[in-house]
Amino acid sequence: MPAEPAFVIVGASLAGAKAAETLREEGFAGPVVLIGDEQQRPYERPPLSKGFLLGRDELSSVYVHEAGWYAERDVDLRLGVAVSSIDRAARQVSLADGSAVSYDKLLITTGASPRRIGVPGADLAGVLYLRSVGDSEQLRAALQGGGRVVIAGAGWIGLETAAAAREYGCDVTVVEPEAGALLRSIGPELGEVFAGLHRSHGVLFRFGEGVSELRGSGGRVSEVVTSTGAELPADVVIVAIGVIPDASLAADAGLDVDNGILADEALRTSDPDIYAAGDVANAFNSLLGRRIRVEHWASALASGPEAAKSMLGQPVSHDLVPYFFSDQYDLGMEAAGVPEPGHYDQVVYRGDRDSLEFIAFWLADGAVVAGMNVNVWDVNEEIQALIRSGLPVDQDRLADPGVPLAEL
Ligand SMILES: Cc1cc2nc3c(=O)[nH]c(=O)nc-3n(C[C@H](O)[C@H](O)[C@H](O)COP(=O)(O)OP(=O)(O)OC[C@H]3O[C@@H](n4cnc5c(N)ncnc54)[C@H](O)[C@@H]3O)c2cc1C
Repeated sequence: MPAEPAFVIVGASLAGAKAAETLREEGFAGPVVLIGDEQQRPYERPPLSKGFLLGRDELSSVYVHEAGWYAERDVDLRLGVAVSSIDRAARQVSLADGSAVSYDKLLITTGASPRRIGVPGADLAGVLYLRSVGDSEQLRAALQGGGRVVIAGAGWIGLETAAAAREYGCDVTVVEPEAGALLRSIGPELGEVFAGLHRSHGVLFRFGEGVSELRGSGGRVSEVVTSTGAELPADVVIVAIGVIPDASLAADAGLDVDNGILADEALRTSDPDIYAAGDVANAFNSLLGRRIRVEHWASALASGPEAAKSMLGQPVSHDLVPYFFSDQYDLGMEAAGVPEPGHYDQVVYRGDRDSLEFIAFWLADGAVVAGMNVNVWDVNEEIQALIRSGLPVDQDRLADPGVPLAEL
């Protein structure tokens, strides 16, 4: 009997762990090797800017699987070691410890890393990023001291850490070169809702300004200088200016890379034996009819298993409605679709925006392309169904809370 092929997953991440789970669930009995450069076994990152950062969630609650799960499923989990290169001709990955692992099929789930701020003083102590458990622990310790926090970037991570910092009693200023909060991800209409929420909790925004210098004393950051020359005292600076997909392994191996690893709707890269999923994949979405790189938990959760099925030769058509969620102060929300400027021409509200209990719908040519339920629950699947239908909707009925979403 021929030996089972070997499946190797680079990136011990949510997508990677879920892919390993799916391989076993689908009955694959051959070797599965899951390699990650962090010391922690695969974990979920959303709590790191929310409950874990606030000290409400235990570390034990963030892991994708129990510690014994990997050995029980005969998944060879190798932690604390990076994959340094892929030799496609030899079908082998080299690890930073000098070892090598052969593969028949390879999945890359290396995710993304925070974009670094390239200004003078960027290396000062107290200038913090947030991606890993260790980052979150470090940030929590810094915020517990109270003090003055300046956040570079009014995106999701910037705003969630702003909320946490306020809950710790810190003074918070957010510096953002764009004209408003969350502009690139949800546009000005809803961005302003979030900016208003934060203002009501005492956060100061400086829109239209970038961070141009970080000054310190005794090696620690003490002041942020903005592009307008403003000097903002700071005990802690949080840099939250987006992430960059960790696609260098793929690029060095000659795979097609453009804002992430290019993948088709079966999550196959330009090498048919190599797959990509999660934040690192710029994959064709058959619902949207284009490639999209999604930096959301739900995408990692779904695309890891999809890639695993594809590796097993099962037909896969990646058609996820992009979905994400956020919690800030007492506001909880879920959003589906792509509400980015350029992809919609109108926003319709169901419920009172000012009460922070409403649903917003982004429309293009009369059809719903995205929706966000804010402090309203159990409706996101119906919102996703509206997006999937692609059909024009009656806007008065859309705005009317008396009309069930399923009847639109
Ligand atoms: C603080 C925070 C809060 C978030 N909150 C939300 C939220 O509320 N809602 C939401 O939808 N999304 C949220 N996200 C985004 C979500 O967590 C990501 O989309 C998700 O983690 C992506 O998972 P992934 O499997 O693609 O990879 P990642 O989680 O990025 O993991 C990739 C892993 O691969 C490792 N790796 C990289 N290169 C190598 C290599 N060469 N060799 C070995 N290992 C390597 C990395 O170190 C990392 O451990 C949040 C993210 C962060 C950081």
